[in-house]
Amino acid sequence: MPEPFTIAAVLAALCALLALAVTALRLRRARAEFTREVSSWRMKLDIDMAQSRRERDQLLDALGDAFMLVDADARVRFANKAARTLFRGRDLTGRTVHEAFLDQRLAAALMRCLETGEPTVTRAVLAQQSSPLGDQERRGVNAWIIDAARLSDSPAEDPTTRVVIRDVTREYQTEQIRKDFVANASHELRTPLAIINGYLENLIDDDLLDDPELTRRFLKVMRKHTERISRIVEDMLVISRLESGEAAALKVKPFRMRSCFNDVLERLESVIHNQEATIRIDMPDLDLTFAGDRFYWTQVLFNLVENALKQNPRKGLTVTIGCVRDEEVTRIWVSDDGVGIPSADLTHIFRRFYRVEKHHSQEEIKGTGLGLSIVKRAIEAHGGSIQVTSIPGQDTRFTIEVPREAEARLLEEAEANALPELGKAPEIEVGTPPES
Ligand code: ATP
Ligand code: MG
Repeated sequence: MPEPFTIAAVLAALCALLALAVTALRLRRARAEFTREVSSWRMKLDIDMAQSRRERDQLLDALGDAFMLVDADARVRFANKAARTLFRGRDLTGRTVHEAFLDQRLAAALMRCLETGEPTVTRAVLAQQSSPLGDQERRGVNAWIIDAARLSDSPAEDPTTRVVIRDVTREYQTEQIRKDFVANASHELRTPLAIINGYLENLIDDDLLDDPELTRRFLKVMRKHTERISRIVEDMLVISRLESGEAAALKVKPFRMRSCFNDVLERLESVIHNQEATIRIDMPDLDLTFAGDRFYWTQVLFNLVENALKQNPRKGLTVTIGCVRDEEVTRIWVSDDGVGIPSADLTHIFRRFYRVEKHHSQEEIKGTGLGLSIVKRAIEAHGGSIQVTSIPGQDTRFTIEVPREAEARLLEEAEANALPELGKAPEIEVGTPPES
């Protein structure tokens, strides 16, 4: 018979074992619970991180500029959509900057920042064939700004650099046009000025003033050249007025196109008569009313008809001026059967100061070469466009198209601007009343 003490001890041990087992079980459950929770947190964290990465990528993809993150080994860690498009849709992640950029002039700007840690902003001007866009590029020369800087919160031993590549081709082209304009304008002004100077020197230094006949001849030549200078300056002012806030420069009102044609023909009457030219008006609706700035339309038509007459001084030229309108556009054209324009020159004739070489072999000063450039700008300010085709000797035709919708919009804007301001108190003149 076991002793009661032994039984109690065994029971106690059993109880302890049981308690231990229960605790172990609880602990295991708790651990399983904890592991489950941790993994669910981890999953949630992963989802959150993936979500925020997606949001970041979406945000960076929405940027118009190419954006990249590059690590200390010059490897691309991230490239946004614009960057991928810029480099012909290639996957850039993991590639070195040299592989990604292809043209080393772009890479060099970034490498400077990677090596020195100093922010850099560089402009690279590349020819079309070296452009990152390659065959898709059609703009001739491209200009890019490469803006690189180290991220301020990235660790010093493994820094990350952000790169923004901005396409500034349009700004670059505008800058070039402006430079060309200034260069051309000074060149065009310098020629008549040099001639005037030459004549003045002759008159003064060679004491020719005593010869009234010669003096008169010299002064006449000088007057011709000063007139040319003032024409160039006037034309340049018109261009700059049209270029600065184009539509704002216009005074739009409805006018009869036929009366505008008449004004032009009246101004050119003596030339038409002298050259025995025939003018045909091709206009089914003689009452056609057009909304635009009549001043500019008269200038446009004047220059086109004048060009036709001026380039064809031979007798018997036929010039046709036409205007038709349908639901979509108003089409206006000026055509002649004269010498025409060589096809190689057709794309250039709207450029400032451009004149067809062949037409100007003779000494006679014919024009500034600004006429068609004013024509184009004036038409564009009205929301229209101008095209030219030429079959020499048969048909040289300038065709203008102005969408009806653009015409209506300009008129609407002009009418809205002309409305008197509502609620404005009438002006009261302050002064002494007239004595009665
Ligand atoms: P401006 O108009 O300032 O007096 P311009 O007539 O020489 O000078 P644009 O009107 O711009 O200048 O014309 C540019 C050039 O295009 C002309 O010099 C001429 O060579 C050519 N051209 C224009 N119209 C005709 C035409 N109808 N026939 C032949 N050549 C033309
Ligand atoms: Mg002209």
